[in-house]
Amino acid sequence: MEDGTLHRFRATNTILATGGYGRAYFSATSAHTCTGDGNAMVARAGLPLQDLEFVQFHPTGIYGAGCLITEGSRGEGGILRNSEGERFMERYAPTAKDLASRDVVSRSMTMEIREGRGVGPLKDHIYLHLNHLPPEVLKERLPGISETAAIFAGVDVTKEPIPVLPTVHYNMGGIPTNYHGEVVDIKGDNPDTVIPGLMAAGEAACASVHGANRLGANSLLDIVVFGRACANRVAEISRPGDKQKPLEKGAGEKTIAWLDKLRNANGSLPTSKIRLNTQRIMQNNAAVFRTQETLEEGCQLISKAWESYHDVKISDRSLIWNSDLIETIELENLLINACITMYSAEARKESRGAHAREDFTVCYLACLFYCLFFLAPTCFYVVTAIVSPRCLQTRDDERWMKHSLG
Ligand SMILES: Cc1cc2nc3c(=O)[nH]c(=O)nc-3n(C[C@H](O)[C@H](O)[C@H](O)COP(=O)(O)OP(=O)(O)OC[C@H]3O[C@@H](n4cnc5c(N)ncnc54)[C@H](O)[C@@H]3O)c2cc1C
Repeated sequence: MEDGTLHRFRATNTILATGGYGRAYFSATSAHTCTGDGNAMVARAGLPLQDLEFVQFHPTGIYGAGCLITEGSRGEGGILRNSEGERFMERYAPTAKDLASRDVVSRSMTMEIREGRGVGPLKDHIYLHLNHLPPEVLKERLPGISETAAIFAGVDVTKEPIPVLPTVHYNMGGIPTNYHGEVVDIKGDNPDTVIPGLMAAGEAACASVHGANRLGANSLLDIVVFGRACANRVAEISRPGDKQKPLEKGAGEKTIAWLDKLRNANGSLPTSKIRLNTQRIMQNNAAVFRTQETLEEGCQLISKAWESYHDVKISDRSLIWNSDLIETIELENLLINACITMYSAEARKESRGAHAREDFTVCYLACLFYCLFFLAPTCFYVVTAIVSPRCLQTRDDERWMKHSLG
């Protein structure tokens, strides 16, 4: 970026560690660099990405900025309220209320927004109130939160609520690897076949140790374990001075042509417009509230967003510090990740981990209620099986104990 020169590194082994793609959503706790570049490179090379439908949300990211407001804020007595000023968590989780699990709070907030009780001009977020807590408590126990809210939301937490939204926090899916960190050609006849010289680690990778939902703290564990595994494997399979295969004729030309085409893109849509549209589609249709209807609509919308990318306009034609060009490349990467996420989520007809579909949910409570009032409780399982087979349906291991590839 600094001087506009292009560099090609010839490496026997390449380890992709480019992080997740949280920025495909309107609200993400992760850095602006998290645009899934490594994932998109792999997809562009014709290899599938694995399990992208599993996206973990944190309930309280600052609206717009996405910065994380820790659960500790609700632990200290913070309360979520909708546009009617109602403490709505009392309805969804009468006992735990605002301290219910991340998934439950995120889903409840989304339901409120979908039912028109969101706050703000677009009614698309929720208020987190800390202003009823004594200022000394806020100062002593939540100084970081008070500062973050002031900087990123312009809010004085002693007087005003913080605008918050369920926010992407982690991508369980990514580049399929084995436990050495080697990328595997999972769509081939033998899914254990490795792609020689290509490795991935961290949030970009999917060694699948987190299954469909990562537990807290396990990402840092993952990057230490698999970063080391990659290094050990390289040390095992490579020797200093190993001969490299000669480059194919014209190697890299396609990449340069792709870059040049983008640099000269002269369509009608600025990058930021397509990006915002993409992020809103993902936030509305592939966040915590998922049904066949929202996902089918999402597939259509995200495909249109992808098509609109062919009409992108770049204003800066230079190569030096061309942030317009970099953001456009990142937009393409976001779109690739977004499309695969949406289509994989639509295809997976079950609820599993972070992929919670309203049309495949447990309604034990409703069944229990039915049994308690009309039948002996011992008939609970029999009745649920007969009256409503879907009642017990959450994950469907028989049909869906498998990876999605896209
Ligand atoms: C607010 C917050 C709190 C968290 N708390 C915890 C926690 O307590 N415990 C836990 O286990 N996890 C936590 N996580 C998750 C964890 O931090 C991430 O999953 C982890 O940092 C991912 O590490 P990574 O190295 O794979 O990717 P990243 O840390 O995202 O690093 C990727 C790097 O690649 C670079 N990069 C990207 N694209 C390119 C490119 N095209 N070319 C060159 N470089 C590129 C980026 O600049 C970046 O430096 C938290 C995440 C957030 C956002």
